Amino acid sequence: MPLLTHTDDHARPGRTRTETVRFCSRCGGPDDALPGRPELRRRVCERCGMGVMLTAAGDALPGSGAAFLIVTAELAVSAVSRSGDKVFGEEGELTGSHLLAIVTSPLGDEQLEQHVRRAALSRTETIAMPVRLVPEDAPPVGTLSARIASCGSPHAALVAVEPSGFGIR
Ligand SMILES: [Zn+2]
Repeated sequence: MPLLTHTDDHARPGRTRTETVRFCSRCGGPDDALPGRPELRRRVCERCGMGVMLTAAGDALPGSGAAFLIVTAELAVSAVSRSGDKVFGEEGELTGSHLLAIVTSPLGDEQLEQHVRRAALSRTETIAMPVRLVPEDAPPVGTLSARIASCGSPHAALVAVEPSGFGIR
């Protein structure tokens, strides 16, 4: 994962790097399907019954139950995880919103936009960059560390955030 807040998965003891992760667009929960039995995999999440199961690179999410947005190549929000509701706002209100109405990056919105669009259009490596929430009434979480990754299907960008501990208002 190149760029700023890069984590080295290989350096963590006892942790093996997984190539891909399958998770629910709503509860963020992992897939429970038996390994090697892809025919048993369901499209809709069996845990919450609300999200669809998506696949992304193993380093795309900071953990299960992560706060994330699913964003199209047009930069429109298509899903918000349940934990994402507390950070970004309710999924129902955000669906269809433009990404840049929700988050901005101290590195420049052009860069943020570029990375998200690229991740939504092709299979890219997970990158990390700092973001801040745009709305005036957003929770005072300061600067967030965002991971931008490709996910599917349908093909979209996954923007997962976690607190960075910097710049809390
Ligand atoms: Zn679910």
